[in-house]
Amino acid sequence: MRRYRVASEGGFWLDRCGACGGVWFDGDEWDATVAAGLLDRLPTLFSDAWQRQIEQEASERYWDERLRERVGAEDLDRVDAFRQWAWAHPERSLIMARLGERPEEVPDEPESEPA
Ligand SMILES: [Zn+2]
Repeated sequence: MRRYRVASEGGFWLDRCGACGGVWFDGDEWDATVAAGLLDRLPTLFSDAWQRQIEQEASERYWDERLRERVGAEDLDRVDAFRQWAWAHPERSLIMARLGERPEEVPDEPESEPA
């Protein structure tokens, strides 16, 4: 038996037999699989492609949560809203270059929480 992560959120894992490919459902795992709409896709959940995608999504979610903790949810939402707008702008490379320039009036060390 090997335990596979089958969804990037909610700590959703399933056990699968390496010898015959049979899936073992513990407790409420069957109901959870049905509820998540994953039953039709059961064979693909254990494929390398799906496993890679799940891993990537989980990783992105992890870093997004760390960023949200460090920056603060409200400030990060402002950044994301601006980023959305800037990326849709025809001159986004000029906007990004401008963002990288240090403003004239800025303290030497921005206030920051210790890491
Ligand atoms: Zn088996």
